[in-house]
Amino acid sequence: MTLFDLEQGEKGIITKVRGRGAFRKRITEMGFVKGKVVTVVKKAPLRDPVEYNIMGYEVSLRHSEAQMVEVTTAHNLSENASPEEDYNGIIDEKLLKTSAREKGKVIDIALVGNPNSGKTTIFNYASGSREHVGNYSGVTVDSKQAKFKLDNYTFNIFDLPGTYSLTAYTPEELYVRKYILGFHPDIVINVVDASNIERNLYLTTQLIDMDIKVVIALNMFDELEQKGDKFDSESLGKMIGIPFIPTIGSKGKGIHELFKKVIEVYEDKEPSVRHIHINYGSNVEGSIQAIQQEIRKNKGLTDKVSSRFYAIKLLEKDKGAQFSLSQTKNYPEIERVSDNEILKLESQFKEDSETLITDAKYGFINGALRETYQLNKFKRKLKTDTELIDTFITHKIFGFPIFIFFLWIMFQATFRLGDYPQSWIESLVGITGDFFSGMLPDSVFKDLLVNGIIDGVGGVIVFLPNILILFFFISFMEDTGYMARAAFIMDKLMHKIGLHGKSFIPLIMGFGCNVPAIMATRTLENRNDRLLTMLINPFMSCSARLPVYILIIGAFFQGNEVSILFLVYAIGIFFAIFFAVLFKKTIFKSEEAPFVMELPPYRLPTFRTTLKHMWNKGSQYIKKMGGVILIASMIIWALGYFPRNSEITEEYDNKILTTELLFDSQISNLPLGSNEYNKVIAEKETVVNQLNYNKNQKLQEGSFIGIIGHYIEPVMRPLGFDWKMSISLLAGVAAKEIVVSTMGVLYQADGDPDSDNETLQSKLQSTTYTRGENMGQKVFTPVTAFAYLMFVLLYFPCVAVVAAVKKESGNWKWALFMVTYTTAIAWTVAFIVNQVGSLLF
Ligand code: GDP
Ligand code: MG
Repeated sequence: MTLFDLEQGEKGIITKVRGRGAFRKRITEMGFVKGKVVTVVKKAPLRDPVEYNIMGYEVSLRHSEAQMVEVTTAHNLSENASPEEDYNGIIDEKLLKTSAREKGKVIDIALVGNPNSGKTTIFNYASGSREHVGNYSGVTVDSKQAKFKLDNYTFNIFDLPGTYSLTAYTPEELYVRKYILGFHPDIVINVVDASNIERNLYLTTQLIDMDIKVVIALNMFDELEQKGDKFDSESLGKMIGIPFIPTIGSKGKGIHELFKKVIEVYEDKEPSVRHIHINYGSNVEGSIQAIQQEIRKNKGLTDKVSSRFYAIKLLEKDKGAQFSLSQTKNYPEIERVSDNEILKLESQFKEDSETLITDAKYGFINGALRETYQLNKFKRKLKTDTELIDTFITHKIFGFPIFIFFLWIMFQATFRLGDYPQSWIESLVGITGDFFSGMLPDSVFKDLLVNGIIDGVGGVIVFLPNILILFFFISFMEDTGYMARAAFIMDKLMHKIGLHGKSFIPLIMGFGCNVPAIMATRTLENRNDRLLTMLINPFMSCSARLPVYILIIGAFFQGNEVSILFLVYAIGIFFAIFFAVLFKKTIFKSEEAPFVMELPPYRLPTFRTTLKHMWNKGSQYIKKMGGVILIASMIIWALGYFPRNSEITEEYDNKILTTELLFDSQISNLPLGSNEYNKVIAEKETVVNQLNYNKNQKLQEGSFIGIIGHYIEPVMRPLGFDWKMSISLLAGVAAKEIVVSTMGVLYQADGDPDSDNETLQSKLQSTTYTRGENMGQKVFTPVTAFAYLMFVLLYFPCVAVVAAVKKESGNWKWALFMVTYTTAIAWTVAFIVNQVGSLLF
């Protein structure tokens, strides 16, 4: 009987809690565990919930929840008591507890597996000393039941028909599914044919989706050994949270161990048991979540069956799931959402939604076996194209260079290919600036437009092509399935440093943007791993930093652009790894649970889909330009423009005037058009430009930004940065592109005073110190430039990332910690680069 059957005021002892993992976890946390006494406090027959008293607490449970808790009562006990036992109607609690314990020692087991995997053989062997065998008829299929005892436990075992899957296509499948979901056996023994493991594990992935307790009998183990294959089933068991027990059913080998393990799992004493989620890829996972949200509104249903299981089934267009859910109140809504999601997925992938799920499941199996299963070297035979490609791409030795080579191509394309459109946009920005400065009369507005907005936003927009190319490659990696391989290859390396390869997916995503990457850490199970991955993520250089690199590298490392760019990214990866190890050894000492790395089948995406994905990511960049970068450029401009120092303006304007007069008087004495005449005209222009330049420098230095700059300059001095570089870094806290736009605004007065149409790069090349002991020296040397690159790579991630970390970690502490340690590292590394570099060069 269940808790639900108790009447008001009645008392019972819990003998068993049924149902799936998440439900059991919740209910046991509330105190509903085997052996505890429960009293019904208040029960209205037709009304949810019922109030119970357990261990002195009042707890209310829904009917559906109460139905999952089995109890035994005094009444129950006296009815079953034999006449010679005299309880006199008084049954003390001690006796009741003893009885409850006895009842808790009955374990209901279902044998589930592919046809001919050896279920019946195991069933017969195990129940050899059977007390009772019955035949039960299903729709068209049979299941046999038997009882036997082992180590004080009574096993109630059911041999179910063989199935390859748990969809609702065949009567067998439907029967097995209904049995598991309707009868809630305590343990499912999944009998797996070891000689055909890949196909057999497909059913296992569905049991995983169901979130039930499973033990795997790795049957036909003799055949696996005969083939000479090697299978590390223990590791795989730990990865998927289900213990594997090798058995040879026909010889009765391993059967005893199998049931021993069943007892351990039943008693929650097996440490490797946990519920995992098969990762269906970000798109499908999004759809699952959307559907789950609707299904979850039916508590009575999800207490018994996992909403995730139903959501996946709906995406598979499973009739059985549709039927079960059609009883719910909000079914029209569930149906609408799931139809919608299916449509979305199918148009995105040009593939049946069922196929997407199946492919992901095989991707999971593929990844699981890739790490644990070794085919006999002499009989190795490749079956599919995916396997063939994977032998190279995920190869122990070749995999890594191939990955590096791919990254190399990516950067090469980003730089070289992006160079052409970049120079077109650059000249367009220049022309626009000239156009407005020629057309508009001198005014504050003109200054804001030309020197603030056009120089600032223009400085960033020129890198749009490079960013789009980078995103094209990242999208391509995701869409083909290479991203999963990259994580897989890194996994081996990551394991060595105590992290899992799964952490590497958010890290690779970090190349695009750290914000979604931080959100992607949700797929990690362990909180410590999640925090750790978040903290090192900013070292994966995001695309917003790319403009800074391209600007600086293009200006100071001509001829070695790609190598330097590659080096910068590699150093970022190095620091990520370094801090991973450091943190793992200090703050986040934890035993991490192994995962399966999914290896989905390769797909060749159409050029159009990849372009679309690229554009989805790239359009955010454009939005940023119209928003935060525009505003930041205006603020930086205003800080540099105000306060207007009329003394300086006056002083220089006077100087300019007198100089002009001086030259003019000289010119008037010379014959028009003569050599001498032209020379003096040119001289006049140079001197006036120089004066204008000096005036602007003075004004800028006296402005708010100049004051702030000089204030922070001492901190940045040891790094070899001038105040303009430092201000740019400060502004880059809002978004990394702003480093470039700020430089665009700050250095607009720099460069060759004779030329008014210069790129920012050439301005940086020629800018010099205007005062101090270095006066007249070039600000940027290759050493300073590299130190600057390092600082930009490592320091303070942008505010959006800080906010994301706060949100995902649920704590300002971690966000603050990230900000401080990254900036400290940036300073130190730039310092070392500058000091060592200055010594060497
Ligand atoms: P079921 O369809 O899952 O119930 O599978 P059966 O129990 O009927 O077994 C199918 C065949 O596999 C029978 O001929 C068994 O003798 C054989 N078999 C079962 N277990 C093993 C095993 O561990 N090793 C070998 N070599 N054969 C086995
Ligand atoms: Mg059978």
